[in-house]
Amino acid sequence: MEEEGVQLMELRDIRDVTILGGGTAGWLVALYAKTVLPTKKITVIESDSIGILGAGEGSTPQLISFLDILQIPVSKLVKEADVTLKNGIKFTNWNNGGKSDWFYHPFVGYGNCAASELSLERYVAGTPAIFSQVSKEEERQDEWCFITRLCEQNKVPMKSIRDQMYSVDNPIFQFEKMGSFSLHFNAKKLASVLAEIGQDRGIVRVEGVVEDYTTDDEGYVTSLKLENGESVKTDFIFDCSGFKSFFSKKFNTKWISAKDHLTVNSAMPFFIDMDVNIPPYTEAVAMKYGWMWIIPLQSRYGCGYVFNSDMIDDEQAKQEIIDFLGYEPEWPREKSFAWEPGYLEEPWKKNVYTAGLSAGFVEPLEATSIWTTIIDWTSAILGNTELMYIKDQGVIDDFNASWRKNQEEVIGFIYAHYMSGRTDTEFWKHYTYENAPAKAKQYLDINNKRAFVVNDFIDHAFFEIDSWSYILLGIRNEKFVENHRLFEFYNFTRPFMDQRYVSFKKLIQSVADFEAISHEEFLEKMKEQ
Ligand SMILES: Cc1cc2nc3c(=O)[nH]c(=O)nc-3n(C[C@H](O)[C@H](O)[C@H](O)COP(=O)(O)OP(=O)(O)OC[C@H]3O[C@@H](n4cnc5c(N)ncnc54)[C@H](O)[C@@H]3O)c2cc1C
Repeated sequence: MEEEGVQLMELRDIRDVTILGGGTAGWLVALYAKTVLPTKKITVIESDSIGILGAGEGSTPQLISFLDILQIPVSKLVKEADVTLKNGIKFTNWNNGGKSDWFYHPFVGYGNCAASELSLERYVAGTPAIFSQVSKEEERQDEWCFITRLCEQNKVPMKSIRDQMYSVDNPIFQFEKMGSFSLHFNAKKLASVLAEIGQDRGIVRVEGVVEDYTTDDEGYVTSLKLENGESVKTDFIFDCSGFKSFFSKKFNTKWISAKDHLTVNSAMPFFIDMDVNIPPYTEAVAMKYGWMWIIPLQSRYGCGYVFNSDMIDDEQAKQEIIDFLGYEPEWPREKSFAWEPGYLEEPWKKNVYTAGLSAGFVEPLEATSIWTTIIDWTSAILGNTELMYIKDQGVIDDFNASWRKNQEEVIGFIYAHYMSGRTDTEFWKHYTYENAPAKAKQYLDINNKRAFVVNDFIDHAFFEIDSWSYILLGIRNEKFVENHRLFEFYNFTRPFMDQRYVSFKKLIQSVADFEAISHEEFLEKMKEQ
């Protein structure tokens, strides 16, 4: 149908939405679909025999906003998924200086507060990149960065609300938020809590292995065929089948490898006992052939050595872990997980939209997978559900192009972490400017000429000036440090900045030391109701 001057797009009817896979990706996508498409039939197909990966126990602050949309309280997850709070990531030994060599990439959710007068909340939490430029080399990061100071004291960016004016069911309202945070969780427990919530909300769960599918004349998938002979009718599919990546294999979708840049490709997980105090951060410890994550849950630390399997094997990785710990930990699996870092060139084809591990996985260093391949990517279509109905290849092409751009951004940022100048093994020697991906070079080139400004990152979806500044400062990038010195000489607002910096430091120190509550207190309160 065409009205005068208006070209109407051809639409497809959508009644049945199917999610293939019941891991974190599958259930998060299914719950979002149920939230925004409440009248449609939403079905999750998952296989008990294949199971879920179970790795990936930390995320980014976007998870909290996503849980808000899904109306899943953090307190429920604290009670049922072994959840702890995450204020950011502590990088240890990245300059090859042992345990005393550390810096944080904190979650700073309130933007750059140097620009204007802001509320106390924004002022304190938003430790901006500009203060990393004013800070002195001899100052520790926890002297000027609020979130870092909290981490070092096992505290979270919350303060108690003393005069509670209203009573609410959710215990989180006993606290006033003073910054962004995310969660650590037991991946298996999280998937099962999400599955339970989903089924209570009317999502249909089908157990079985999908082995084939049917299409209509135009190539749109119309049903999924299970091993047991069952068939599930569908109008739109979210492929969340994890590393099996069911549809990308059937469709022969091209994989864009990042292995020439990011060289870790395996992870050996292990568990260790929890200490007395539960840290509110993930620790990423640099090792000889990669790095190790240490994620605190309430009952244990979930850890893993992420390494390059072309350089060492599982046994050597295990030995390096034992040497680091001084004892043998619990190994939840015999063998390491393996992957090829990269992503699908076209995760959206016809009426199949791929999310989670099946769409891509570069590596877990910044815990970006849930954010960039599930939350952000899913919101792009389910936040604009009309896109699912449109039969327009141009729309799909635009989406796939923006996906590729975003994945390259993540690869470039992660690459920069490894450029600390360590040369103690072949692994570290790889991380030079010459081997860097284009996105990393783009920012390293700016940094080689001058200090970053906010607008350098204007087309960035994920990591901006604060993140790049924290990492380059942390790995003691010479040019970044030199730019600070130039900044001291040439910046005419310097006296103003210095004065502001002194008062700022006092403020963040007193709020962190006297107002913020401990991680334990927060977790205990979440469990009270
Ligand atoms: C070592 C490692 C560390 C990680 N760390 C992080 C991190 O810190 N932060 C982060 O955000 N992410 C991390 N990730 C990624 C994380 O695992 C994923 O983001 C996500 O949580 C789980 O992925 P998924 O749901 O896509 O896949 P899975 O959990 O593997 O689920 C796949 C589902 O598909 C089903 N399935 C597959 N094929 C079929 C079929 N043919 N028929 C029926 N069902 C099928 C399976 O049964 C399962 O239910 C990490 C990954 C690895 C490997």
